[in-house]
Amino acid sequence: MKVFKFGGASIKDARSVRNVAHVLNHFPGEEILIVVSAMGKSTNKLEELVNCFFHQQDNCQQIIEELRAYHFEIIKELFPADEHRVHNDIEILFSQLEIITQGNPQNTFNQVYDQIVSYGELISTKIVSSYLNSNSYQNKWLDARRLIRTDQNFRFARVDWNFTARLLKDTIKEGNRYVIQGFIGSDDDLNPTTLGREGSDYTASVLGYVLDAEEVVIWKDVPGVLNGDPKIFDGTELLHRISYREAIELAYYGASVIHPKTIQPLQEKNIPLSVKSFLHPSEKGTVISKGADLEPLLPCFIKKDKQVLITIATRDLAFIVEDHLSKIYKVFHQFGVRVNMSQNTAVSSSFCINYDAMITPQLIEELSRDFDTSFNENVRLYTVRHYSEEALSRVKKNGQMLLEQTSRNTYQVVMA
Ligand code: ASP
Ligand code: MG
Repeated sequence: MKVFKFGGASIKDARSVRNVAHVLNHFPGEEILIVVSAMGKSTNKLEELVNCFFHQQDNCQQIIEELRAYHFEIIKELFPADEHRVHNDIEILFSQLEIITQGNPQNTFNQVYDQIVSYGELISTKIVSSYLNSNSYQNKWLDARRLIRTDQNFRFARVDWNFTARLLKDTIKEGNRYVIQGFIGSDDDLNPTTLGREGSDYTASVLGYVLDAEEVVIWKDVPGVLNGDPKIFDGTELLHRISYREAIELAYYGASVIHPKTIQPLQEKNIPLSVKSFLHPSEKGTVISKGADLEPLLPCFIKKDKQVLITIATRDLAFIVEDHLSKIYKVFHQFGVRVNMSQNTAVSSSFCINYDAMITPQLIEELSRDFDTSFNENVRLYTVRHYSEEALSRVKKNGQMLLEQTSRNTYQVVMA
């Protein structure tokens, strides 16, 4: 069995949904489990609805109407006959959404969030599954709320692997094809939960792991994983192969490749993860698997905006020693802040972190209690993996260097 994941952009309108069928036609007779996100940007719209309902504002009905209009425009194009069952199925889901948002919120924000936002995937999968069935791609619709079991950490739920494996193995039968929601699951009481924004890739990985899939494919609007974001860097090229480890490294430094969480389970069972273009389904794209770091071995460029460079010095010009560092890292930990780059001198230490309007000022205040603290706001962090002289000179042109670091494989520079 293969697991295919189609994200919001790949089903954003009727033409895109038809293209999903076109992609699947390249795999005749294959057992495929299709994981689908919410259509287009509907998760963002549903988040607006959550805020509206939770804060009891009066435009909730209007937001529902916009969502309804968006989805029914797609349905009308895909199923011109009014009597098709999908019209009714989707109406039912929208009435449920209306009922939920009519009363007062009875639960915590995060629980209400999961209850409402999960409708994006329930609606999209009904549409995609019905469309495929009406185009002779027979498949069964699955309800992830009955199959992906999680804890009650609403909005950031963690998967109960054993229970989920049992549920899935009882349900998924050989020789069939299925359509299931990404991103959602439920707790033991069957309250809907979600796995964190952009969580559908992770769902695909969970399914791949549990069902010992032969591969997991993520279909995207790009040819695969490139050696830099083409919106930022010129002349980017396609990476044909990336090792699991290198993919995790790239994600760690901020590449929007694939979340490390998605890669880890697949790595454990040695299941390849491909990233392919839904516009060119016969092309190979990028395969993330066991083996050499990168093929071709190109420098990879990553840029992180909205960084803050904090420099911390001892008040009495004493050397910075382990004791100070452990104090400093404890503060970072307490504020849930990850250090993207750090460097020490005798009497000072510098740390590059993501700027957060809520957290950063408080963090700096806390550090200033014990140390002399200075900082540069609005700086950028560039990382180059597998650098060459030519690659470094390209990056160094981008501004005034504040802090630079080179290790065997990785070059990083903070720029004003
Ligand atoms: N629909 C969810 C989101 O937009 C999950 C996903 O797309 O992966 O975050
Ligand atoms: Mg999405």
